[in-house]
Amino acid sequence: MDDDYQLSTFIMSLFEEEESMIREAEDILNSEMTCGNALLPHFDKLSGAYKKLLRQTKRIVRMADNLQRDLNVATDKLSILCTVDQLTNVANRRCLEETYNTEWKRSLRNGTPLTLIIMDIDFFKQYNDSYGHTKGDICLQRVAQTIKQTLKRPQDLLARYGGEEFVVVLPETNEAGALSVAEGIRVAIEAQSIPHRMSKVSSYVTISIGVCVMTANLVDNKDVHLFRADQALYKAKESGRNRVVMWEEVEELPERPSTDA
Ligand code: GH3
Ligand code: MG
Ligand code: MG
Repeated sequence: MDDDYQLSTFIMSLFEEEESMIREAEDILNSEMTCGNALLPHFDKLSGAYKKLLRQTKRIVRMADNLQRDLNVATDKLSILCTVDQLTNVANRRCLEETYNTEWKRSLRNGTPLTLIIMDIDFFKQYNDSYGHTKGDICLQRVAQTIKQTLKRPQDLLARYGGEEFVVVLPETNEAGALSVAEGIRVAIEAQSIPHRMSKVSSYVTISIGVCVMTANLVDNKDVHLFRADQALYKAKESGRNRVVMWEEVEELPERPSTDA
């Protein structure tokens, strides 16, 4: 933007030089010494045409300038549209992936823990069936805003992952911090007291939460991180919903030797 501005200012300054040159030439020809010069009418005609050309060129430069400005505004709007979920106004999945990749690399460089939290509204299908899709959308917006308000650090990111699922990325956050943020989110949603007459776990809208903390390494990648957080979420659903479950490494039990003869 600055470069464009400097370029058009530079072009305009060239015009100023040209105009002052024409003015100087006119002054010389109009001076007493050149009075009655036969070339004068030709020069007047020529300088008139040249001034007109300058005016038109200036207009074109100004138009190009305005077009460039409009284009910049449109590009800014488009890049926001590409990163924001239109219903809830929080980051979308694409933005999540970009941010997550950056944070994974930072974790790899600095050896700092990276937290991934996956949240899913409980019995949301029943909520839609009972209150209608429009109320369902409003509920999604309230849930998103509530989660957003619980995040305190500027580098924390909330994104809508899909349907009624949200993901939070907490850079430089260990297990204790992750659990405290996740529990804070769960409690904050419950405290909204959004009525949910079809929920089997509460009279209000609740969410189940899966948490996984990893320090980036060269073996795993974000799919592993997401998969583990998702496994924890699945456990939270299985064990009664409206709760936080932290992913834990489960040692595979060795297969029992067959007793068949
Ligand atoms: P669970 O507790 O196991 O998560 O049950 P659930 O009913 O929440 O899960 P399920 O995946 O069966 O249903 C998710 C529902 O979310 C399905 C759909 O009606 C609703 N949904 C997904 N996206 C939107 C949306 O953008 N707006 C609205 N209103 N509803 C949505
Ligand atoms: Mg779901
Ligand atoms: Mg759900």
